[in-house]
Amino acid sequence: MMNHRKILSLLAALTVLAAGAALTPDEQKIVALVDAQAGAFAPDLEAAVRIDSATEDLAGVRRMGEHFGRQLTALGFESRFIALPASTGRAGHLVAERKGTKGRRVLLLGHLDTVYPVGEVRREGDVLHGSGAADMKGGDVVIIAALRALHAAGALEGTQIIVVMTGDEEAAGKPVEVSRRDLFDAAGRSDLVLSFESAIGRTATVARRGSISWELEVQGVTGHSSGMFSAAMGSGAVFELTRILQGFYDLLRPLDGLTISPALVAAGVEAELTRTGGTMSGKTNIIPQRALVRGDLRTVSAAQLAEAQARMQAVAQQGMPRTSATLTFSEGYPAMPPTPGNYALLAQLDQASRDLGFGAITAFDPRGRGAGDIAFVAPPLPGLDGLGLDGQGEHTTHESADLRQAPELVQRAAVLIHRLTR
Ligand SMILES: [Zn+2]
Repeated sequence: MMNHRKILSLLAALTVLAAGAALTPDEQKIVALVDAQAGAFAPDLEAAVRIDSATEDLAGVRRMGEHFGRQLTALGFESRFIALPASTGRAGHLVAERKGTKGRRVLLLGHLDTVYPVGEVRREGDVLHGSGAADMKGGDVVIIAALRALHAAGALEGTQIIVVMTGDEEAAGKPVEVSRRDLFDAAGRSDLVLSFESAIGRTATVARRGSISWELEVQGVTGHSSGMFSAAMGSGAVFELTRILQGFYDLLRPLDGLTISPALVAAGVEAELTRTGGTMSGKTNIIPQRALVRGDLRTVSAAQLAEAQARMQAVAQQGMPRTSATLTFSEGYPAMPPTPGNYALLAQLDQASRDLGFGAITAFDPRGRGAGDIAFVAPPLPGLDGLGLDGQGEHTTHESADLRQAPELVQRAAVLIHRLTR
């Protein structure tokens, strides 16, 4: 009679055998090479996170690009850091390419920049804390670890693979025709794109929402606060601002899949806002004449974006007495619609994951996901995102990455890239 523990270990052994059987001998060799290098993942990621590369830190972004560029050069890639014109206020991008004719031409997408400067970096067991640990240096290191195993197996010979790591994903340089030119070029020489933004459980992303920034400027009249609500003074800029924001909330909340977030507010007799902060001055006994808000808006399609913008403009134009409002939108990220080509790539990832013994991969709900660089090139290319490292607190000062998933994610990426490039 077998006890439970023996039955369980026998089942586990059979699962491994079944997984092994679904992989070709070449793929089994690649998986073994991923495992052999698994210990390097955490130190490699920690070294990358320690390079401070907030979007606005141009020298830091370049250092990050050169760091990954050296690692890719060692794998037979021709790597270069392509600087952007100073007028964009952005550093530039790492582009690394292996030229070949075998299989499909693959574009691998990462980014070098982080929302916040690095802050404190510390490792606690299987968790690495630090800005960019998950978004998206974790994904960048997954790309490099997968390519390293493929290179060691001799599986990169003859393949056409381009790695693009942008230096301004978190806040793209303007105009995007300039800041995304090298990405468009790389897409023109590729058949499909895989992007390594954070994984979310066993899902991958076949659609992403677009995102756009907006700014609302309200002007009123000022004077002694005792004149509030009078015909001469009206109700001041702050009441008008709150009326408009309440209108946005009421009219946009019902739109399926849309989110809007007023992020920064400044108001008073004087008020100014930049992209990351602002100043204001006034007194409690003076009616505020100026109020500003900056925020973002995320939509599932171009049509929904147009509908939301029309509703927002209508609310802004209703105006309380003695006030006026101006609402402007800046250039943003397009949406990535779910295409049959994206679903075909998902099916291949799902198959690779099952063959490795990790189980099924499903499509992630695009509502839970922000905008990303992949939407600039998918369409026209079929694409899949969310192949990077799982984490917590992305876009906060308390970001961390979960290192436990790294071996599975690297194996999955390596086998998928291998199958696509045969
Ligand atoms: Zn990111």
